[in-house]
Amino acid sequence: MFSIPQPPQISETSLVEGCPIVQLHDSDLDIENLLSMLYDFMEYSALPSAHGGVSLLKIATMLRLGWKYEFKNFWNEGLHFLSHDYPDTLEGWDALYQNEFNGINSRLIDNVLFKIRNVSMTLDVIALAYEMGIKSVVPAFYMFLLRYHGGSLAELQGAFESGRRWATFALPETVLESLLHGREKIHDALVELPLGWLHSGTFPTKFEGCTSPKTCDAALSTVVLTVLRESVGSKMRFFTKKQSATELTKDFCKECASAVLTLHHEGRGALWRLLPEFFGLNE
Ligand SMILES: [Zn+2]
Repeated sequence: MFSIPQPPQISETSLVEGCPIVQLHDSDLDIENLLSMLYDFMEYSALPSAHGGVSLLKIATMLRLGWKYEFKNFWNEGLHFLSHDYPDTLEGWDALYQNEFNGINSRLIDNVLFKIRNVSMTLDVIALAYEMGIKSVVPAFYMFLLRYHGGSLAELQGAFESGRRWATFALPETVLESLLHGREKIHDALVELPLGWLHSGTFPTKFEGCTSPKTCDAALSTVVLTVLRESVGSKMRFFTKKQSATELTKDFCKECASAVLTLHHEGRGALWRLLPEFFGLNE
């Protein structure tokens, strides 16, 4: 902080009790947040996530001033809050979202439902991530919108526009374009990766371990027809929901079901790794 360039001459009158005055050019709110967090640490420590009580404005201060003044603890803490609910791995995504409506973790469910209602807050998170160059959390943000608001293109665009009206931070103009572009790319890749086994021609009739080829051939046809009839939005669940594999495998023999689970899991992982490219984050 003391290495920030200052006016060339510090006169005696600019001293306060013998100490020089350091001029800061940060917003009043960022400085207020910084001081409150420095002197009232309990206000934000020991809270489990960004949605457990810490406002996004304070997280923004942690990141902005933590980076600018090299307050590493602030930066790390801000990053932790931000990435907690928007993981950068498929395992993290599954751990957070796969049990959303199973009644297993009511506190988490509350958080998820809270977020469903708050597109504007999610847009603020993404605006902050872009501002601070933290692209690792961005794909999960996009996936969150596609998962909960992407039933149809009109629904997705409506949720986005209404969320943007209530957002606090300025969102880059390219975000909606990236979201829609990614949606199309994911749909194509979904058919090739997590669902590629449906049309590869090698499964299940040529799967050596199959114990009931006729039943599994019929099951394959049923699943193909089911997937064909799905809209783009509802088909997205075969990627965003880990347990969608259960829906796909329920009519197969045990051996084929196990093979499908493996292929589906590998395909989801491969697709997840492509998300930064699909959303234009590698440019
Ligand atoms: Zn089989």
